[in-house]
Amino acid sequence: MNDKTHFGVYGGQYVAETLMGPLNELAAAYDEAKKDPEFRREFREILRDYVGRPSAITVAKRLSAHLGGATIVLKREDLNHTGAHKVNNTIGQALLARRMGKRRLIAETGAGMHGVATATVAALFGMPCEVYMGAIDVERQKPNVERMRMLGAKVHAVTEGSATLKDAMNEALRDWVTNCDDTFYVIGTVAGPYPYPDMVRDFQRVIGDEARAQFLDKFGRLPDQAIACVGGGSNAMGLFAAFVPDKGVKLVGVEAGGKGIATGQHAASINGGRLGVLHGAKTMLLQTDVGNIVDTYSVSAGLDYPGVGPEHCFLHDTGRAEYAVVNDEEAVAAFDALCRFEGIIPALESSHALAEAIKRAPALPKDALLLVNLSGRGDKDMENVIKWKMENGKCKMENAE
Ligand SMILES: *Cc1c(COP(=O)(O)O)cnc(C)c1O
Repeated sequence: MNDKTHFGVYGGQYVAETLMGPLNELAAAYDEAKKDPEFRREFREILRDYVGRPSAITVAKRLSAHLGGATIVLKREDLNHTGAHKVNNTIGQALLARRMGKRRLIAETGAGMHGVATATVAALFGMPCEVYMGAIDVERQKPNVERMRMLGAKVHAVTEGSATLKDAMNEALRDWVTNCDDTFYVIGTVAGPYPYPDMVRDFQRVIGDEARAQFLDKFGRLPDQAIACVGGGSNAMGLFAAFVPDKGVKLVGVEAGGKGIATGQHAASINGGRLGVLHGAKTMLLQTDVGNIVDTYSVSAGLDYPGVGPEHCFLHDTGRAEYAVVNDEEAVAAFDALCRFEGIIPALESSHALAEAIKRAPALPKDALLLVNLSGRGDKDMENVIKWKMENGKCKMENAE
């Protein structure tokens, strides 16, 4: 398929007829906004003055020396306000909502990070915000639920189905159909029906554009590889977009292997899934033989999405990007390594990308440059890492009686 809603066979708008109106309205408004210099100026201004962009790039000197091969360079999305890349996108969508005259924001969230990023911009713009979250996730992610409420958002615990992310997405879509006159649906990754995958990629592209300029400035050349973790795929797409035309830059997405692909307990949609339709788009997803979405698993809650952005499937099929798998144990080891060698506590999601760089670096020459997108900070993950280590016999509890 070659219409602009698809990437090869992937993407599209596989939604109920009632959603076509709001989607067309959104696509037209976005087409206009992205060409408007004033819209772009305001987006850039908020990224600078509120998020603190541009985010730094940091050479991981001690870690690279320890590995004895390529030099690892980190793009520091962990330094953004709210501690991750997601806010780049929610600012863009909130600006578009305001431009379209929509006064109310809704979102779905799994681990709660996108809910927090949406609640944050809703407060910034003075808009009411309601977030749909599976009842099980509300239990599992209490601190993020508290954060959203603190920021003034209303959190709906969804008890339908398996009471997790996909059920929250369904409820959010239902709300949007009912209230589309005054409501804007903020999607948190490069998934969902057209124009979301394009729009979210464009808003996140600031990551890749900055990193590209920073590499030319600091090293006089582009990286040999650009590596990012893939949940839905927004931080990776934001990084990749700037480098797609640079054929010399290898693009590497890293999926969550959980306990191993063979166990079925993972979140690797490209490496371990099949073609299907989720959230209004045709994409690779984790499903049973009869097409029911299966519950994903990863030590990292933010990678726990059963599908993946359609553009990633396309980049995979065309060979422009490759998609590796990193399991829980490797991600936790990379998490520890960055703490100890660089004094940076990374998000567990980002630790998957770092683990892939750690695997590749030793076999590469010292002048090779590996750009790793550090999509977020890991303060939120402390408890999970400790729990994982205890359950997997990696923690001696030195200080316990
Ligand atoms: C949500 C999240 C991810 C995964 O989402 P993508 O859309 O794949 O980027 C990765 N890292 C962090 C820190 C996150 O919060």
